[in-house]
Amino acid sequence: VLLNLREHLRPGTIREAVRLLREGAGRTVALAGGTELVGRQDPATEAVVDLSGLGLAGVGPGPARGLAIGAMTTLQALAADQGVHAAAGGILARAAAMAAPATIRAAATLGGTLAGEKGGEEIPTALLALGARVALAAPDLVEVPMAAFLRDREELLAWAPLILRVVIPAQALCAAGGCARVSRSPADRAIVCAAAVAFPGGEVSLAVGGVERRPRMAAASDEPFARWDAVGDHRASTEYRCTVAPVLARRAVLEATGGAVR
Ligand SMILES: Cc1cc2nc3c(=O)[nH]c(=O)nc-3n(C[C@H](O)[C@H](O)[C@H](O)COP(=O)(O)OP(=O)(O)OC[C@H]3O[C@@H](n4cnc5c(N)ncnc54)[C@H](O)[C@@H]3O)c2cc1C
Repeated sequence: VLLNLREHLRPGTIREAVRLLREGAGRTVALAGGTELVGRQDPATEAVVDLSGLGLAGVGPGPARGLAIGAMTTLQALAADQGVHAAAGGILARAAAMAAPATIRAAATLGGTLAGEKGGEEIPTALLALGARVALAAPDLVEVPMAAFLRDREELLAWAPLILRVVIPAQALCAAGGCARVSRSPADRAIVCAAAVAFPGGEVSLAVGGVERRPRMAAASDEPFARWDAVGDHRASTEYRCTVAPVLARRAVLEATGGAVR
């Protein structure tokens, strides 16, 4: 519960939403599905900018024949969408289906997953492997590759406080894909996960989440993960994460390439 909440703002335009978020920086935050925000109980939050009136939900054609996924698309809609299923072995749809229980997936959004702290690793890892780009409003449109978004997320959101959509490039839509994860139970969030995309030209992109603080690209499944800047927590040590990462990376690449490991 947000005990100090005084205002629920519901702008009808992107420009207005960005203005409200900028003017209230520090005490005003974006409200999407609310699954993380409401539980956060941050006493500094005095106003929320409800994003539900901005038309940001849905999956459809994007620029240059890519696939555009609106920031307010729920994880359930993402998991069920035919176009997302058809892209690169459905690795993003599979990531969304595993990201949270059904009750949470019905409300939690793609934007909240990328901007929040508790969205887990699987969706950003899949988007990284797919070569996705994140579109933000500053209020003018700013588009950044997923890798840059993950690296500079706090700075980007301070400057362009609203995620509008994620675009999957056309070449990833007709690629093959694979993914693998390890978690404490099938319903729990991933401890470590890997996603691979094999493009028609033969190039394979591989991303690994759950080893470093944010998912990152790996050159190959035998990458020296022990040299990564691994983080451990109550769910798994750094050693465990570095040990399991190449196994998952190899599985993801095997699935994407139909058996040929690079
Ligand atoms: C009971 C429970 C179980 C959960 N289980 C899991 C789990 O198993 N695995 C897992 O990965 N996650 C889990 N979560 C976390 C949850 O699924 C994610 O945090 C969720 O994806 C957040 O999305 P949301 O739309 O609800 O975001 P919100 O709670 O509305 O917002 C989260 C943050 O993102 C910001 N934000 C939202 N949308 C935008 C936007 N478009 N632009 C800029 N900023 C934005 C908000 O200001 C806020 O800071 C669980 C949560 C709960 C409550």
